[in-house]
Amino acid sequence: MPTKKTSSTKKTKTKKKTGTTKKAVASKKTPKPKKSTAVKAKASTKKTTSKKTTVKTKTKTATSVKKTVDKKTPVKTKRITVAKGKYYYYFGDKQADGKGTMKDLLGGKGAGLAEMSRAGIPVPPGFTITTDVCHLYYENDMEIPQKIDQDLEKYIEKIENSVGKKFGDASDPLLVSVRSGAKFSMPGMMDTVLNLGLNPESVDGLAKMTGNTRFALDNYRRFISMFGNVVLGIDKELFEKVILKKKADKRIKQDSSLQKNDLMDIVKKFKSICKRNSGEAFPDDPYVQLRMSRDAVFRSWNNPRAISYRRMHNIDSSLGTAVNIQAMVYGNMGNTSATGVGFTRNPATGDKEFYGEYLVNAQGEDVVAGIRTPQPIAKLKQELPDAFKQLKAITTRLEKHYRDVQDFEFTIQEKTLYMLQTRSGKRTVQAAIKIAVDMVKEKLITKEEALERVDPQQLDHLLHPRLDPKAKYNILAKGLPASPGAASGKVYFTAEEVVKHSGKQQTILVREETNPDDIEGMNAALGILTARGGMTSHAAVVARGMGKCCVSGAEAIRVYPRKKQFQVGKLIIKEGEVITLNGTTGDIIIGKVPTIEPELSGEFSKYMSWADENRTLKVRTNADTPRDCQQAIKFGAEGIGLCRTEHMFFAEDRIPIVQDMILADSPEERQEALDKLLKFQKKDFKEIFTAMQGKPVTIRTLDPPLHEFLPRLEEVMEKIENLDKVDDDYEEKLERLQKVIKRIDELHELNPMLGHRGCRLGIVYPEITEMQARAIIEAACELTKVKKLTVLPEIMIPLVGHINEFKNQKEVVQRVANEVIAKYKVKTLKYMIGTMIEIPRAALTADEIAEEAEFFSFGTNDLTQMTMGFSRDDAGKFLNYYVENGILPSDPFISLDQIGVGQLVSMGKEKGRSVRKDLKVGICGEHGGDPASIEFCNGVGLDYVSCSPFRVPIARLSAAQANLRVKKGTGKGRTGTE
Ligand code: PEP
Ligand code: MG
Repeated sequence: MPTKKTSSTKKTKTKKKTGTTKKAVASKKTPKPKKSTAVKAKASTKKTTSKKTTVKTKTKTATSVKKTVDKKTPVKTKRITVAKGKYYYYFGDKQADGKGTMKDLLGGKGAGLAEMSRAGIPVPPGFTITTDVCHLYYENDMEIPQKIDQDLEKYIEKIENSVGKKFGDASDPLLVSVRSGAKFSMPGMMDTVLNLGLNPESVDGLAKMTGNTRFALDNYRRFISMFGNVVLGIDKELFEKVILKKKADKRIKQDSSLQKNDLMDIVKKFKSICKRNSGEAFPDDPYVQLRMSRDAVFRSWNNPRAISYRRMHNIDSSLGTAVNIQAMVYGNMGNTSATGVGFTRNPATGDKEFYGEYLVNAQGEDVVAGIRTPQPIAKLKQELPDAFKQLKAITTRLEKHYRDVQDFEFTIQEKTLYMLQTRSGKRTVQAAIKIAVDMVKEKLITKEEALERVDPQQLDHLLHPRLDPKAKYNILAKGLPASPGAASGKVYFTAEEVVKHSGKQQTILVREETNPDDIEGMNAALGILTARGGMTSHAAVVARGMGKCCVSGAEAIRVYPRKKQFQVGKLIIKEGEVITLNGTTGDIIIGKVPTIEPELSGEFSKYMSWADENRTLKVRTNADTPRDCQQAIKFGAEGIGLCRTEHMFFAEDRIPIVQDMILADSPEERQEALDKLLKFQKKDFKEIFTAMQGKPVTIRTLDPPLHEFLPRLEEVMEKIENLDKVDDDYEEKLERLQKVIKRIDELHELNPMLGHRGCRLGIVYPEITEMQARAIIEAACELTKVKKLTVLPEIMIPLVGHINEFKNQKEVVQRVANEVIAKYKVKTLKYMIGTMIEIPRAALTADEIAEEAEFFSFGTNDLTQMTMGFSRDDAGKFLNYYVENGILPSDPFISLDQIGVGQLVSMGKEKGRSVRKDLKVGICGEHGGDPASIEFCNGVGLDYVSCSPFRVPIARLSAAQANLRVKKGTGKGRTGTE
């Protein structure tokens, strides 16, 4: 029989990953995603009025295409009326139809481009097709309504006029990029098509215009493979194999060494791959290419990796993406061209330094995909000084304008700088805190704004261990310190293997470079190691977002995924061997290295002190050992909200005594065991009171059913089998074991969670409550008298459903307390007797209970179990399914069901306070550490939340953010009954 504590905690951990938003739930009419069905790429080409060709049929891809897309509609609450809307927003030439605040409609990228263009920053002209169109596309059976589709050409003409080139032109063609862009950035998860508009004629045009045939053909082969993969759903590897073979035949290593003829041959082969796999000739009409790409980018909103990413980051799946179509500029036009990405401050540490990377003679995706390891941005100052100066000035201006760190993308085409994107930069939590504190110092933001800049959940990453500096180890190799922290684990070489092994052990994902398909593996691994890619590579960006330790670009390692090993020099590390990563230094170490607790920076303390100034909700901790108490005090706990005394009974030296108590045949025998336990409990309470330095300590009397303290039947049977019959005490041992079996049988319950537990134990066996009350009050008296310490015990009776249950236990506690206080003559000792509210009946009769109880603590674990009727131990079997399929918006054991269970919390508090104005009310279920539930508790007006020590800072910040939102009028001052 699993203990309720361990099993429910385990579930809480594993289920954390799932988070579905309310709106996603509403897509009733949408079919369940069929993961393996190919989706037909429906480009609305029948409406094409291209000047060159008019394509009459819908372009379809053959069923062999492997692209998997979920057709689940991003649901909008308001219906969009096609005739009325504005669906295209132009930007360029220092003006724009949209602006930076329009992220919902234009996505982050579109809004950023509009804002930059308005500010006179050099941005290649283009336009954004809004997220409304994304919704219409899905609602309209994956087809853009004709009324909207027909304006596409008008907007392309605007770009043509701005750059003086024609789309598909045979002499000087306009090429465009087609990029996704949702409200919240989802790096690399959705699709992009570059160099669009190339066909046999325009390739010639591009060659003539640039005087560089090789360049034109290189773009053409990039376009065909990208289009083939993104739009037609053809496996990238098919294209890569052609290039590898060509390089092998020619005995060359670099793509850049491929000659004109090689590229022509590659183009031919790429086209036939497309034809073979899609069943159609590769489209030459640029408008056909454009429409198909636009639709593919809309579809990529629901590709599996985007869905996973949204689930991991709690992004609303009803938002949809915008599509940005923009004139191409070339970072691959030779050695005075470059492309790069950067941040206005260091996103790993928060230091105020210009930070980024670039590649000369390359296109954007080469940098982010980590295919070549790029140069640090400081080098650009020497290579292209004017462009560097301009870039620094523009990005500094952007940071001031947005009052936040900017993550930007740029291209330099023959020494001319273009900005392609700016957005608020993703950062580690260390960086987020440092940047927020620095920006307050720089008077760029207020303290209140600073408090909004850190996601409370992320604080978790800060509070976890790092490598022990005293540990001795040899560094195997070094990579880039892409995301801080430390991780030891067994190495695996594919995301699938990592996912497969992660439940049972700690794993490290090792890849040549990661790509968005690795997202689930990255999420499951403890750390990530890549051989290629820089500080802004996919691995680095995603790991930082997840707060995972990551070492990227470790060039000394060779990764052989097929052989399931990696190599450093002659040393081979095979799948399943343990390595350690230090994401703060970039060190890679063989074997496991010990870790130590983190030291919190001065900035952290300052930041948390601002949080404390801005909250009214107090934060306590759930702790039952002095060590946990010390940890919690360090993290800012203001008391203990729940000390589960049963945890003290499980120690090796105590469990036999507890068993003696359970097996006792007479009250005398039971008392003998209880007297022994009293000594242990008293010592524990003294240590806990001392550690808590005069802060209130809520101690709960025994709660779990007694059978949890007995061994499992099979274990006892095994022991009997293994008894040595010639042993002197054989008979005695056998007798005890047989007694254990008899007692296990007697205590057996079909439904122990609703059985003999909580106050029901203390009522039937009052001597247990007496012993616990005595231990608490004697410990308090001794510390008050001898050590002159302030001690504030709050004795809490669990699982009360009827006032008489509480009265019964209160009488026991009071009687013992009076006796002990009289014995010690400590008149100053203040103690309270209160109850947990964890049974719906207790919440419904809270006014009656508050006549007797001095405080309430909502035990929302049990309250959720009993209100929803979901077993805490077994609900895992269906809860994940419920959440994934939108039956429930989230796991109610992780985030409080505010409408249902929350209503009982709100009502219980109101009823309680109606008879006892100063009734202290808190919450000590798992929800006390969940930001959304904390916001609810703040809104309802509880006095405190109580959570595990490591969640105390999360709760402090969440409480402050909740309060600030109420002040701003954006928060929930709701009561749950509304
Ligand atoms: C609860 O039920 O919310 C609670 C804190 O008690 P336990 O988890 O120990 O049952
Ligand atoms: Mg409980």
